[in-house]
Amino acid sequence: MKLYNTLTRATETLAPLTAQQVTMYTCGPTVYDYAHIGHWYTYVRWDMLVRTLKISGFTPNWVMNITDVGHLVSDADDGEDKLEKGARREGKSAWEVAEFYTSDFLEGMHLLNITAPDMLTKATEHIAEQIAMIKVLEAKGYTYIIDDGVYYDTTKFEGYANFARLDLDDLQAGARVEFNTQKRNVSDFALWKFSPIDSEQQRDMQWDSPWSPPGTSAGSRKGFPGWHIECSAMAMKYLGETIDIHAGGIDHIQIHHTNEIAQSEAVTGKRFANIWLHSNHVMVEGEKISKSLGNGVRIQDLLERGIPAGAIRLHILESNYRSQSKFSTDGLVAATQRLSGYRAMAARGWQCVTDGGLSPKELLNYQQDMLHALQDDLNTPKVLFELSALETAIDIDGINIECQKAFFAFISWLKQALGIELLVNDIPEELRAMIIERERARSNKDWAKSDRLRDELSGQGITVKDTASGTIWHWQ
Ligand SMILES: [Zn+2]
Repeated sequence: MKLYNTLTRATETLAPLTAQQVTMYTCGPTVYDYAHIGHWYTYVRWDMLVRTLKISGFTPNWVMNITDVGHLVSDADDGEDKLEKGARREGKSAWEVAEFYTSDFLEGMHLLNITAPDMLTKATEHIAEQIAMIKVLEAKGYTYIIDDGVYYDTTKFEGYANFARLDLDDLQAGARVEFNTQKRNVSDFALWKFSPIDSEQQRDMQWDSPWSPPGTSAGSRKGFPGWHIECSAMAMKYLGETIDIHAGGIDHIQIHHTNEIAQSEAVTGKRFANIWLHSNHVMVEGEKISKSLGNGVRIQDLLERGIPAGAIRLHILESNYRSQSKFSTDGLVAATQRLSGYRAMAARGWQCVTDGGLSPKELLNYQQDMLHALQDDLNTPKVLFELSALETAIDIDGINIECQKAFFAFISWLKQALGIELLVNDIPEELRAMIIERERARSNKDWAKSDRLRDELSGQGITVKDTASGTIWHWQ
C-alpha cells in the first residue's frame, strides 16, 4: 500500500513497525461548535484509510482525540480558548459546550457510517500526561516561562523548520505588531497557559500545575494545556513513541503538526510518526468555508433535506484527499443519481442472464483494479471510475448466472471498502408477479394497465425499466 508522506514529500510504501499492525493517530474535532462539511471530508477520508488498511490485510489501531480545552481562536497562541468562547456564546459552561458538541460530532460519525476509532481520547482526561511531558521538556532545557505561560523554545529543536519547510527569518520579519514580546521567537508556542488573573474566576476549565508566572509563588496560579501538547501526549500514551501514520488537515502542517513533532521528538529522541498524511481544503459552491458566509453545512441538515448518507460519501470520494475539493448542491444531486445507478446495478444480481453477461473473471478484474486504486494513495476517484465502468457493462449485458454468488460477495466487499450500502434484497413474489403482469399488459398494448402497475410498483419502492431484452427492476 502506497501513501504520500508529507514528511518526505514522496509517495512511499507503508511498512508498519509491527508486521501487519498499523498504529494511527488522527487529529479530531475541537468541540466548541458544529462540525461542518469541510471537517466531514477529512473524517471520511481517514475512514477510507482505515477501510483500505483492513481490506488490505492490515489491523489498524486508530486513536482520535477530542480537543475539549486549550485550542485558541488562532492556531498559534493568540486569543481566547475556543471552548470558553463557545461557553460565553451559549450561556453554558465550557464543560456543557464540550459535551453537547462531542455528542453532535459522534452522531455525525454514525450518520456518515464512519468507522468508530478504536479509541477516542479527550484532552481534559489527560492533563496529568500532558504535565508529565512538559516536565520532561523542562528538564531537558526546551522551555521557558513568561507571564502567560510555559513556552517551547523552537530554536532548541534542530530542524524545527523542516517539516513545513518554514522560512523562520521570514516568519520573524512578518510577525504581527501584537506579537507577544516576551516570546523569544515568533515560532515559539505555549505548552501550558496560565489562566489570566482577571478571568481566573470565570474560566471553567483549569488545573493546578507545577508552574506559575514569574514573581508568583509556585503552584499559585491555575492553568490549562496548549493544544499541541494534547495530541503528542495522547498519541504517545496509546500508540507508543513512534507511530506508523499521523493524519490531519492540511492547515495543521505549519503550526500544529510542526509543534507536535518538536515536542514529541525532543522528549523521546525518536521519530514521532513515520508517515504524515494531510487532507486538502474543501470549497463550498466555489467559496472557502467561513463563518461569515455561513456555508459550513452540517451533515444533519443535508440528511434532513433527503440526501442519502451514501450520496454524501460518494460526493466526497469523487475527489482525491490531496487535491482541493469542490462541494456543491449540483454535486450532491449528481452523487444521488450515481448512488441510485449503483443500486440499480446491485439489483441486477437478482436478474441474472444465462447467455453472456458479466463473468466471474471479468468481475474479479474490476475488483482488483478498485483495490489497487485504493492502495495507491487512496485514489477514490479512480475507484468510482471503475465502478461506473462496471455499472455500464452490467447495464448493457447483465450478469451471468454463474457470476451471481461472486457478484453479491463483491457488493458486500464494496460496503466494507467504501462504507456505502447498495441494497441487494430480492423482491417478494407478489411484486415479481406484478412485473410479469405488467410485461404482459405491455405486449398486449394495454398501456393504461401497464402504467397503473408501474405506479403500484413504484408505491412499493420498485422502479421498472424497459429494455430491449425485457423489463428490469431495482429498488428506489
Ligand atoms: Zn492534533
